[in-house]
Amino acid sequence: MGVRQDPPGVASEAQVRIVPHGRQFTCGRERDVLAAALAAGLNLPHSCKAGHCGSCRARLLSGRIRYPDGRRPLGLAESEEREGWVLLCQARPLDDLVVEARPISSVADVEIKSLPCRIAALERLSPDVVRVMLRLPAVEPLEFHAGQYLDVLLEDGRRRSFSIASPPHEPSLIELHVRQVPGGGFTSRLFRDLQVGSLLRIEGPLGQFVYREGAGPVLLVAGGTGFAPMKSILRHVLEKGIEREIHLYWGARTADDLYEEALVLEWARRHPFLRFRAVLSHAAGAEAPHRSLGWVHETALAEHPDLGRFEVYAAGPPEMIEAIRASFPAQGLPADRLYFDSFDFAPDALSGTTGG
Ligand SMILES: Cc1cc2nc3c(=O)[nH]c(=O)nc-3n(C[C@H](O)[C@H](O)[C@H](O)COP(=O)(O)OP(=O)(O)OC[C@H]3O[C@@H](n4cnc5c(N)ncnc54)[C@H](O)[C@@H]3O)c2cc1C
Repeated sequence: MGVRQDPPGVASEAQVRIVPHGRQFTCGRERDVLAAALAAGLNLPHSCKAGHCGSCRARLLSGRIRYPDGRRPLGLAESEEREGWVLLCQARPLDDLVVEARPISSVADVEIKSLPCRIAALERLSPDVVRVMLRLPAVEPLEFHAGQYLDVLLEDGRRRSFSIASPPHEPSLIELHVRQVPGGGFTSRLFRDLQVGSLLRIEGPLGQFVYREGAGPVLLVAGGTGFAPMKSILRHVLEKGIEREIHLYWGARTADDLYEEALVLEWARRHPFLRFRAVLSHAAGAEAPHRSLGWVHETALAEHPDLGRFEVYAAGPPEMIEAIRASFPAQGLPADRLYFDSFDFAPDALSGTTGG
């Protein structure tokens, strides 16, 4: 067991066995173990896929791995590496591996599919966010859990992740909220060239950021388009008649960025167990009683100083997720009741290989 950079005699493919699950799959030497697991239909824990968040941490029981640039990823502490932990989204196999990782039981049963789909509707929601409705083939609906995401597969093999905003009980028409990234390969094309009727290929569902049934109070913290998976969760809860104390905090720069504020206010009016606060970080004034100024995670914490009873779901920019991971457990939130999806940009964008 160990991490080496340049060993002799390495096979082009390795067998990876996941324990205690028992599943085995093949992983090319240049491929990360997480990508190979997902391609084999095994939904292992992960979030950012860029080596930052540590969600895909797993224990290497036998075999050797390497990291792309030979360096320990940022999301893995030196002491963890010494104890045999690796980050599967970065680790490439040097030989056959045995890895201890637990597929998420609630998502392990859902098949990951690669499917063609057609853009059924495109609607501008704010200056830089569009709603994309994807129509799936009638015979191939997408089974998923509220909160999960999918990857849009681009022609050159790259992929871009987007959370599903529609609920699981609508498996043939999928809603996404896509923010335009200046200079972004895929989102620029979407805003410029793609139209109703255009074909895309998707893979999903992915991720273990999923709503868990339960009775205790829930805090949903969204940053920007981090509202998308919260909308899926809220529609699932509201339309299935589940009554549960839910506090939604939605952080945005200005009121224009709260692109479905009216819808949420209407939900909150009809369902007294749902509370809603919008938190604006770059506005001059709040201008409505349900709005306040500041950072969304700080407002949520100030209004819930004891998080001991809560489950927290957070989705949005990596900086917001990091702040929540650093501060919420200190206010009584048990670590195993914090679920998050960090909206990092794609790893190939980080390595400078983006393009149109
Ligand atoms: C699990 C998950 C779920 C996601 N869900 C959503 C969603 O529902 N809606 C949504 O709009 N986005 C979401 N994202 C983020 C989205 O996948 C990225 O922003 C994506 O890289 C944009 O693709 P692009 O090809 O347009 O830009 P890229 O070509 O990937 O990026 C070009 C350049 O833009 C910058 N950049 C890219 N993305 C961002 C970013 N997010 N923040 C700041 N700078 C950036 C980088 O400098 C990058 O080099 C999600 C990400 C993850 C990991």
